[in-house]
Amino acid sequence: MKVAVIGAGWSGLAAAVAAAQGGARVSLFEAGRVAGGRARGVATDDFSFCDNGQHLLIAAYGGVFELLRRIGADAAMVREPMAWYMADGVRFQAALLPKPLNLLLGLLLAKGARLPEKWALLRDLAVLSCWQKWGSGDKSVADFLAEQKVSQKWRDEFWQAMVWGALNTPVETASLRVLANVLADGGGSDFCLPVNDLDNFLVQPALRKLAECGGEFVPETRVGRLSHSNNQIMVNHQVFDRVIIAVAPYHVAALLPEDWAADFQAAAQSWRYHAITTVYLRYEHSPQLPVLMTGLAHGTAQWLIDRSRLNGANEVAAVISVSEQYGSLKADEWAARVHADVLRVSPNVGEPVAVQVITEKRATIASTPNRLIFNQDNLNARGIFLAGDYLNERYPATLEAAVLSGFAAAEKVLQAALNDKNIYKTNK
Ligand SMILES: Cc1cc2nc3c(=O)[nH]c(=O)nc-3n(C[C@H](O)[C@H](O)[C@H](O)COP(=O)(O)OP(=O)(O)OC[C@H]3O[C@@H](n4cnc5c(N)ncnc54)[C@H](O)[C@@H]3O)c2cc1C
Repeated sequence: MKVAVIGAGWSGLAAAVAAAQGGARVSLFEAGRVAGGRARGVATDDFSFCDNGQHLLIAAYGGVFELLRRIGADAAMVREPMAWYMADGVRFQAALLPKPLNLLLGLLLAKGARLPEKWALLRDLAVLSCWQKWGSGDKSVADFLAEQKVSQKWRDEFWQAMVWGALNTPVETASLRVLANVLADGGGSDFCLPVNDLDNFLVQPALRKLAECGGEFVPETRVGRLSHSNNQIMVNHQVFDRVIIAVAPYHVAALLPEDWAADFQAAAQSWRYHAITTVYLRYEHSPQLPVLMTGLAHGTAQWLIDRSRLNGANEVAAVISVSEQYGSLKADEWAARVHADVLRVSPNVGEPVAVQVITEKRATIASTPNRLIFNQDNLNARGIFLAGDYLNERYPATLEAAVLSGFAAAEKVLQAALNDKNIYKTNK
């Protein structure tokens, strides 16, 4: 069976590898020069490594680990117990105990909050956990915080940072259910950071595995609108039995055969996107931030990653979620603001000797309450399958959501091939 996978982001890579391992002849088309999509390495002479954005694996990452296993990647990464370290606020570390005792003990031992404040946060987390198990309709995180009468301290030092970081969505429009799922499935246990660029971490090993399984990677090839002919699908004038469309949601409608594009566009109308800016700063000496990931409740940057603790480089990678909230700052303005943040934590850090600023305007689809998930049954019946980070109901648009969707699309394609074979046998 010939399968075209369109888009070599992490969903397309997962789909291509899984379909090829299942016996399909896979062609993986990518419009760009390199694979990786919104999670790709960026060439740099100034930094030990650079990606289009600082990525970390937090809460759920079983799918990503499964992909790493399948491609035999010897992934270099740091895996640390979850530490919540706000330079200008509360600090705690999840204890090495089963959930939820890890958070309970961690929070009771927290620094920067009085005992009644700790109990208040624990109570709100417990209410959210119960709501996640038994709750009815979804609502915004802001509504929940108002109902619980959450103090300004906890809004600033916990909830907002958590929602921005995990959902890349403002608290006012963020889905409480998605946040609750993230917290239930692992938020509060540990997190992983690659010590190298994403290209080395996953993209190149995935492409090597694809080639080993007889698949081909076709870069710099933008696929146009698909068309049908005799139960097969035309992809840029080539014929395929099945197609997996693994592009970002705002590129899907341009690929779908015209009669189905309108349905997708109707669903996509309600979707919103938010930006993420990453600022990389290199210093002469180690930035000496207190922990690997330092948070700021009242900074421009929300998280500062100290790379000297990752790979020995004198570098900081700063994450600004929902970064459109600051308007359109120029690169030097971003750098000045983030350097000021670093100075607040590490006053003797000196001036940066290299700076790189990358803004991805449509970094992820917003995790809004009851976000519509496109029903692809009709498309699937015609041999077209969707993959992408926007298809997961449970999680926000993340690497994990992308990889899981890729596996799911490949599985459906392989199942369809099996059904074809059985029909063929029966007819004979
Ligand atoms: C700055 C930033 C920081 C992030 N941080 C995190 C994080 O810390 N943790 C986390 O889990 N997630 C994070 N994310 C989200 C994560 O990167 C995405 O969820 C994931 O990469 C999406 O993968 P995808 O395969 O669904 O889509 P994409 O990566 O968008 O892949 C789609 C691919 O399709 C290609 N394409 C489009 N149209 C065509 C066409 N017509 N023909 C051929 N190819 C086409 C594109 O070039 C692209 O390569 C972050 C994202 C950004 C931008």
